[in-house]
Amino acid sequence: MSASATSATSVADLDHFINGRRVAVAGDRRGEVFDPATGSVRARVPLASAATVGEAVAAARAALPGWSELPPLRRARILFRFRELLERHLDELAAIVTGEHGKVFDDARGEIIRGMEVVEFACGIPQLLKGEHSEQIGGGVDSWSMRQPVGVCAGITPFNFPVMVPMWMWPVAIACGNTFVLKPSERDPSASLFVAGLLAEAGLPPGVFNVVHGDREAVDALLADPRVAAVSFVGSTPIAEHIYTAGCAHGKRVQALGGAKNHLVVMPDADLGQAVDALIGAAYGSAGERCMAISVAVAVGEVADELVERLAARVRTLKIGPGMSPGVEMGPLVTRQHLDKVRGYVDLGVAEGARLVVDGRGFALAGHADGFFLGGCLFDGVTADMRIYREEIFGPVLCVVRVPDFEAAVRLINAHEFANGTAVFTRSGNVAREFARRIEVGMVGVNVPIPVPMAFHSFGGWKRSLFGDHAMHGPEGVRFYTRLKTVTGRWPQDAAGMAHFTMPTH
Ligand code: NAD
Repeated sequence: MSASATSATSVADLDHFINGRRVAVAGDRRGEVFDPATGSVRARVPLASAATVGEAVAAARAALPGWSELPPLRRARILFRFRELLERHLDELAAIVTGEHGKVFDDARGEIIRGMEVVEFACGIPQLLKGEHSEQIGGGVDSWSMRQPVGVCAGITPFNFPVMVPMWMWPVAIACGNTFVLKPSERDPSASLFVAGLLAEAGLPPGVFNVVHGDREAVDALLADPRVAAVSFVGSTPIAEHIYTAGCAHGKRVQALGGAKNHLVVMPDADLGQAVDALIGAAYGSAGERCMAISVAVAVGEVADELVERLAARVRTLKIGPGMSPGVEMGPLVTRQHLDKVRGYVDLGVAEGARLVVDGRGFALAGHADGFFLGGCLFDGVTADMRIYREEIFGPVLCVVRVPDFEAAVRLINAHEFANGTAVFTRSGNVAREFARRIEVGMVGVNVPIPVPMAFHSFGGWKRSLFGDHAMHGPEGVRFYTRLKTVTGRWPQDAAGMAHFTMPTH
């Protein structure tokens, strides 16, 4: 890196947020947070020790009795106030996201609005927590169920959606009466601190929502802490599997969402213009750093040549630049290390024999020599045995796989280890129906490239894209963050002398 890249004008020292206030811990290790558009250091983030994590968990534990006893309607009112504050500070928060992640400003606004939808869902918590009731299950006996909070919950989140992914978790968790410790990505940590400040302003009691920054040491401390009842994780598959295994071994409930390789099938009868638009946005938006990005286009039959030709023309003219510049379609990658990894995959694809139709490796932006930019890349002739097909690249690299027919497309997708999202573009209702029924993937789009469920549905993949039994937000989120209790009751009548020694039957 050049001297200019390291001589940032002001480098902020970030804090943790514990028990309602910012906490600086002397002696914490520190990591660097970059502005991906310039490559300069923007901030230093503390990396929590096990002791700092313990403080945050203690604060969450202490806040639990008061918070869980508060009527759900009053918990919801605080979320209503938070939602208003979030809307008021939307642009400020979006600029923070762009500054540390690199995605374009409007896309950062979009992720905040999608996160806000989960807050709006959680505002309906009194309705969502309603149990079931059965009258007169036996003579004079009623039975009913209730959902109660699980306790202190932890969230560990990835860099790619620093606002939205934490909001898949904590609004539902705290609305259900739990308290929360968030360990956001150390690569773009500032958004979580901003959100914590808004929650405090909305009247959330201290200790209900805490933020500890850190890396593996902090995560392992959360996993081992017996006061943490539930862990939600979103990130890459190897870490998701580790979190799930270690969390379960410590007796916690765990939902761990992992990586992806999302295919979009273009049938010969598809509206090709629509399919190309969809692919360009879904593959190159946010520089491909989305868990629901399309990274494989499956061209069925004779559609392939024209599809590749039209895609190539669009990839070559992508508007790439700093996320805050108007009109930019794609920003830089998050770090130099990630840029090098993605570039390495492009080199690998060439070595594996795929045809690199558009090569973005030479992309350069005047005045941004140290930014983490990569031009859009497009591969044709990719096959299922290549590593660029099997592994998640998480960058602006689209692979085209040619298959002869619909059956081959279904077989290809169902054989992949990842199963987060997928889509089919077709004009045939029957093909769409068959695809949705037979595909072994958690989220499916029909002429919709990125089928991210709304907050009142649940988000989650299958196979090695999700470890655990519950997807996030929507009804599944409420189930994850609550324990079901079923009560069977009888009020005294003439019950004397009614000891039973056999299972009651009705
Ligand atoms: P990552 O796995 O590197 O990091 C995720 C979190 O785990 C971070 O908070 C990080 O600090 C922590 N972590 C990293 N290494 C760890 C270790 N060895 N032990 C314990 N904790 C560790 O992921 P990332 O690069 O930040 O995010 C990109 C990944 O997230 C991609 O694989 C993407 O597909 C995935 N993702 C998945 C979804 C989904 O819904 N399935 C959504 C968003 C992102």
